[in-house]
Amino acid sequence: MPKYNYHTHTYRCGHAIGEDEEYILAAIEAGYTVLGFSDHSPYRDFPHPREHMDISQFDEYLSSLKALKEKYKGQIDIRIGLESEFFEFNREEREELRSKVEYMILGQHFDSPYDGHISYFKPNSEEEILDYGESVCRGLESGLFTYLAHPDVFMNRQHEFTAACKQTAHLIASKAEKLKIPMELNVRGASKGKFQFGDVEEFFYPHKDFWKIVSHYDVDCVIGIDAHDPKDLLDKDNIKAVYDEIADLNLHIIEEPFI
Ligand SMILES: [Zn+2]
Ligand SMILES: [Zn+2]
Repeated sequence: MPKYNYHTHTYRCGHAIGEDEEYILAAIEAGYTVLGFSDHSPYRDFPHPREHMDISQFDEYLSSLKALKEKYKGQIDIRIGLESEFFEFNREEREELRSKVEYMILGQHFDSPYDGHISYFKPNSEEEILDYGESVCRGLESGLFTYLAHPDVFMNRQHEFTAACKQTAHLIASKAEKLKIPMELNVRGASKGKFQFGDVEEFFYPHKDFWKIVSHYDVDCVIGIDAHDPKDLLDKDNIKAVYDEIADLNLHIIEEPFI
């Protein structure tokens, strides 16, 4: 199992709990050598108190993590990052934020930062699934992102791997292969348990049919805990469940720290 985790949130996003230091202590206890924080990135003009940190919290996010990075030097390497969507019209703000952190991961949760946006955690049509795939590809092409978080998040609450799902999997995997951007097997998805898909039980995500398609491409995979609670870092059962789920697929998982 990897000794890194680059997908960690903080209370600032409004839907995660625990102090920054508690995540670090949990990561040390769990045996991680590198812990990357990637809280949901702010949007100056689009505050969403339960979805991402406010722009006014950003400097404090950086200073808190910088102080902890120093404090735990020699025990664990702390990396300071962000998880963010990508929208072309907002590119400048993303670039500015990216310049202030060590890495950024692409988590394309919504179709826009505006209020009332469509959530890709629960797409309502084939069209919305295809839109998701295209917006992920634009994000990958932006050059801002080190890896792609939960690429199969659109499978959340779906019970059928439809033609649009298949097309989206090919679209994303081929783009990731071309740009050499790793894709994440998201452990938080597995923590929700398995659900019925026809005759078989599968995770909504990481979704077996999706990763079966990915396995035909030359793409590196990353394990991401997507911790929203320090305790998430101590739970190795869900990581094992992800490994078990994709054991028969020929996926290349990065085991060593790479950021
Ligand atoms: Zn979150
Ligand atoms: Zn996340």
